[in-house]
Amino acid sequence: MGGILDAVTQSLAGLRPVLLTVDDDPSISRAVARDLRRRYGEHHRIVRAESGEHALEALRELILRGDQVAVLLADYRMPGMTGIEFLEQAMDLYPAARRVLLTAYADTGAAIDAINVVDLDHYLLKPWDPPEEKLYPVVDALLDAWRTADHTPVTETRVVGHRWSARSHEVRDFLARNQIAYRWYLADEPDGRRLLDAAGTDGLRLPVVVAPGGETLIEPSDAELAERVGLSTVPSADFYDVVVIGGGPAGLGAAVYAASEGLRTVLVERTATGGQAGQSSRIENYLGFPDGVSGSQLTDRARRQATRFGAEVLTTRHAVGLEANGSARSVRFADGSELHAHAVILATGVTYRQLGAPGCGELTSRGVFYGSALTEAANCANEDVYIVGGANSAGQAAVHFAQHARSVTLLVRGPSLEASMSHYLIQQIATLPNVSVRPCTEVVAAHGTEHLDKLELRHIPSGAVETIDASWLFVFIGASPHTGWLDGVVARDDAGFVLSGPDLVVDGRRPPGWTLDRDPYHLETSLPGVFVAGDARADSMKRVASAVGDGAMAVALVHRYLEKP
Ligand SMILES: Cc1cc2nc3c(=O)[nH]c(=O)nc-3n(C[C@H](O)[C@H](O)[C@H](O)COP(=O)(O)OP(=O)(O)OC[C@H]3O[C@@H](n4cnc5c(N)ncnc54)[C@H](O)[C@@H]3O)c2cc1C
Repeated sequence: MGGILDAVTQSLAGLRPVLLTVDDDPSISRAVARDLRRRYGEHHRIVRAESGEHALEALRELILRGDQVAVLLADYRMPGMTGIEFLEQAMDLYPAARRVLLTAYADTGAAIDAINVVDLDHYLLKPWDPPEEKLYPVVDALLDAWRTADHTPVTETRVVGHRWSARSHEVRDFLARNQIAYRWYLADEPDGRRLLDAAGTDGLRLPVVVAPGGETLIEPSDAELAERVGLSTVPSADFYDVVVIGGGPAGLGAAVYAASEGLRTVLVERTATGGQAGQSSRIENYLGFPDGVSGSQLTDRARRQATRFGAEVLTTRHAVGLEANGSARSVRFADGSELHAHAVILATGVTYRQLGAPGCGELTSRGVFYGSALTEAANCANEDVYIVGGANSAGQAAVHFAQHARSVTLLVRGPSLEASMSHYLIQQIATLPNVSVRPCTEVVAAHGTEHLDKLELRHIPSGAVETIDASWLFVFIGASPHTGWLDGVVARDDAGFVLSGPDLVVDGRRPPGWTLDRDPYHLETSLPGVFVAGDARADSMKRVASAVGDGAMAVALVHRYLEKP
């Protein structure tokens, strides 16, 4: 980016609204810019161009950078593109900018006609000397008028996409979970179209992401996004004391304790730090937060705490292999790169179990969502929301959606919530007039082409099937451990959870392949020097506090391992 703007912009610094002037006569163009700068330069950026085409190019760059344009001053008679033609096209890019045509006396007729064509605010006769009398009063009035509307410059990342596109949803989710502020535009609405036009794309490939510097990314991968929005993805070294795999509460807990205790620590996360907790709308039972805390707030603090202690936190690093190389432990990533360390802490947590009913797979992210309550809540304003699940995560989601949706219905297979949900949540739900519970019910099919529009629900005792209109289904039916990639590397239980410590010693026998003259330490897996923490561990508590506790304990055991392997 930046060619034309660098050439014509008087100052790139700051977020000052732009006054843009275009005149094909270089001496007049310079004179207009000089006069404007003299009076408005302190609080505005003066951008000068010498043809309509160049001025439009400059406007497109300004849009991508998120800048505001307050006033456009265009010469009427220019070769190629007249001032009126320029203003007409500029209106599509900056509809709120005030428009002035610079004309010679002989052209006043054309200028008057232009009042209708381009909704001209003013025409100025050249020469305008002295500017104090002829130019400044006009521009002052236009700036006053422009300021009465809200023109906050956009400094954050912008995402242009389609409402029902799965990848658009994933990109927004990725940014939100990584705490990257972004603004969302629909591709078929005027602001979205303007951005696509400025980026020079037809919008057939979405989403389009415009980074804060104005750089445009079309259908970016998570790794590309991470890099452009300033997330660390590349390690600074290739050997560490400890590699922590997974950035949920267990991994973040481990990173905080490891780094604060002087271990060279790197945490690698495949998507966004926070894990499941980062998607929890309100964690009420974490020690020290009597009023609850949102999962993203808690985990964002933990991430900052870890980096403040010197841990490296890398995102979009998907671990796919682990092996012992002598005393080193090597972690391989999806892109083929590797990291090595004395010890490894596995904190890969769990992934959401998918609803098997026909249609649900195809409609995922297009009305059917797994655990993404936070990002979609605002889209459900005044709509009817269905939530599948009877455990705490479903209950929390119901409470959260109740603030936005017209109605929230919990679809529960069991006869009531009592057996599966905490008492405090059941009580909270009972006080919400727009939340209801439908027990003994399961989803048997989801229908919709672009987006979910119908659900088939079965009443389990009677077998009766009812078809209802539904656009939003959020599924919270538990999870399975993300440990498939560790097959044959560390011992796991039948459900895939990683076994550790005393569980590995059966009838006094240590695990197969174990070569050390001691039993595995408490959270140590069947591969010495590799520890497990949090939800991925067999028989773990599935709570934020216990995951953090596991992380801290794993670090203490890493110290013991490093002292005495
Ligand atoms: C909606 C919801 C609400 C909840 N509310 C509460 C609550 O109120 N109170 C409470 O105590 N608990 C709550 N829980 C449970 C709690 O969030 C979990 O117990 C906790 O997050 C487990 O932490 P973890 O670090 O072990 O795993 P996770 O949080 O699952 O994090 C694991 C991380 O590892 C990453 N990862 C996985 N595989 C790889 C790989 N191969 N390479 C790199 N990275 C990888 C994942 O992307 C993920 O970020 C809730 C859970 C959910 C889903």
